[in-house]
This record gives sequence, structure tokens and C-alpha cells, in this order.
Amino acid sequence: MTLDIANIRKDFPILDQKVYNKPLIYFDSAASSQKPLCVLKKEEQLHVEYYGNIHRGAHYLADQATNDYEAVRDLVKDFIHAKSREQIIFTKGTTESINLVAFSYGEAFVAKGDEIIVTEMEHHANIVPWQMMAERKGAKIVKLPFADDGRLEIELLDQLITEKTKLIAVAHVSNTLGTINPVKEIISKAHAKGVKVLVDGAQAMSHLKVDVQELDADFYVFSAHKIYGPNGVGIMYGKKELLSQMPPYQGGGEMISQVTFEKTTYNELPYKFEAGTPHITGVIAFGEAIRYLQNLNIEEVATYEHQLLDYATGKLLEIPGMQIYGTQKEKSGAITFNIEGIHPFDLGTMLDKMGIAVRTGRLCADPVMDHYQQPAMIRISFAVYNTLEEIDQFIDALKKLVAMLG
Ligand code: PMP
Repeated sequence: MTLDIANIRKDFPILDQKVYNKPLIYFDSAASSQKPLCVLKKEEQLHVEYYGNIHRGAHYLADQATNDYEAVRDLVKDFIHAKSREQIIFTKGTTESINLVAFSYGEAFVAKGDEIIVTEMEHHANIVPWQMMAERKGAKIVKLPFADDGRLEIELLDQLITEKTKLIAVAHVSNTLGTINPVKEIISKAHAKGVKVLVDGAQAMSHLKVDVQELDADFYVFSAHKIYGPNGVGIMYGKKELLSQMPPYQGGGEMISQVTFEKTTYNELPYKFEAGTPHITGVIAFGEAIRYLQNLNIEEVATYEHQLLDYATGKLLEIPGMQIYGTQKEKSGAITFNIEGIHPFDLGTMLDKMGIAVRTGRLCADPVMDHYQQPAMIRISFAVYNTLEEIDQFIDALKKLVAMLG
């Protein structure tokens, strides 16, 4: 391995601090990753040197900011290997990207009685927008279940896809179970029956190399803040033939071509879907995050994170009463668990006081909690800046708490 983790950690000064007088261990990167200095500095540089509103070409600062903003669109296009820059729409996050698709695709393509397949392991952001659309259009949501080990039961798709099915919404990587879903296979099954697929890549982008053309995804969405970029920036990638038939999601400046009180015409792609002033500094700084990840080499990052995952899983399983949810071999980023007889909130609160940041609760995935009949769970998740030593310290802390609370 060529990754120099000690050096990488220097790029993330937030990690080098004490909380409650204990060295911080940050195991909550699936919720949001920390940002390297290059990202933070870019945002500052923009505000100090050339901030102006984009696409309004009125002056030097606006031109500079516009050029950088649009350059990031090209960078994202290459990063996910999209065919053209018009297919990259900036949003404020995965949630907004899915809402955009659910609304616009729904308006263009979904009619009364149609069906949308949503998997049981989705984050609420990939369930609720479809339900809202289904309610508006008189469509129906059909659940694709997962097995207890966290495997999506994709063989059921043969039965679940009917002539009424319009789209399948599926996470590339589950935020609770960590499962890497076989999205390529799902897409090919769906396409064989003329069904479109939206892939929620929120938990995949920092761990896997994604090629939207190879996957043949119809829509692929993700958030910058989970891959070392700023919060408030998201991506919606879509196939051009779909995007060009879909109506705008929001109205306002930039998304129009001409406005009169009699009739308004809309701008071309991608601007048709980018109403109003976007998160200019966020998008431009996101470019630095992509470069940062590319410089590290995403395959090496993935291998390293997998090593952390395997090591932590082995150590967790030494603890009596340990129940890990999601035990697939094809797994990435996160481990979710409970310990028999101990409430996850008690454990989470006490870990926090020991300087260890974990996620506790229903993980924005009520159907997953219901599947296992658990009120809440604990999730630890890793990024490139985490270490085996941190895992050892976490396991020591956990063992102490189990002895105390168990
Ligand atoms: N989908 C998945 C799988 C997620 O993990 C998350 C974030 N927890 C989201 C969607 C929503 O992302 P955001 O809050 O950035 O819109």
C-alpha cells in the first residue's frame, strides 16, 4: 500500500483535537466526511479573490467564478465517466437530486396505475420522494426486500417487474447494511423489460470507482459532503434522452430562455434544472475534493477502507452479544450493530464522552429497523483518514462499556 495515512491525516486538521479531553476518533464519515485543507482553502480563496454570481457574465469576477464552476462540471463528468457535461446537474445534495428526478420523471413518464420498485434497504431520501410522486400521480410503490444477511433479493425482480413498472430506485451501497448492491445486474434486468433505474450513490462515491456508462444507469445521484467535499452540493446525472423530455423541477432565474407573461421557454440542459443562484463556492471547492480523491487513487482508498472494515468486523465479533446487521462479502464503508441487553443510545452517548463519534438511531432507514425489529442501531463508518489504531481504541472502549452496562 502506498497510502501514507499519517500524512493524509495532516490534511484534515479537525481530526487532531480532543473532545471531552479525549483524542477525537471520528467514525461517522457515512453521515458526512471531514474536508481536507485544499477544499477549505479553495472556498476561502474564492471569497477573498474572485467571488461573483455566475452565468451573468457582467464583469471580471463573475467570469472567473463562472469558468471555475463550469470546469467542475467537466471534472464531475470525467469522474463518473458521463458522456457529456449537459448530463451533470448541480443540486444541493442526494436528497434534492432524488426529489428532482421523482418530480420531473414522474411528470413526464408516470401515469395512474404505474409502479415504482424501491428496495427495502433504502435511505428515507430514496423512499419518500417516490411516495410523494406516487400519491400525486396515482402510482404504486412496490418493495424489493432484502434477506437477513443484507443481500438484496434480486431474483424477485423477475416477478416484481410488470408491464406497469416504470422505474427501480436502488442504493449502490446501503447506508445501514453496507451492502454493495449488484446495480449493474439490476440495471440490465430492468432494461431488458424497458424499466429505468435510479442509483443512489451517496454511500458509494468515496469507496468505489463509478462509471455511469458502464453501469448503464439512467440516473445516478450523490452528495459532495460524503466524499470530502462541501455540504450543500449534490449531483444528478441522467441520460440525455430522459433529461431532455423531463420538465423543469423548479422555476426561476437561469433555467429560462425567455420569459413573457404569455409564455416562458426553458433553457437547454443542464441549466434547465438549475434554477436560481447555486452553491457557487461549494461546487468550485468540490472540484478540489475530486482532485484530492483522484490523487490518492480511489482503488487504493477502497482497498485500505476494506482492510479497516474487515479488521473492525473481526474485533467486534469478539464481543459477547454482538449482532452485526449486514454481513455481505461485498460490503463497504459502514458496520451497523447492536449488543444484546444494551441500548444503543446509552452506548453511543458514552462512546461520545470517550471521544468516539459514532452514529446512533434509526439511521434514516426505518424499514431496515423494522426488518430486524430494532428500535435503533449503532453505526461506525470509515474514511481514508481512519486507522487500525483507532479501531483498537474503539474496541477497548466498547469492551469497557459492555462490562459496565452489560
Ligand atoms: N442516500 C443515502 C444512501 C445516504 O446515506 C444519504 C445520507 N445519509 C442520503 C441518501 C441523503 O444524502 P443528503 O443528506 O446528502 O441529501
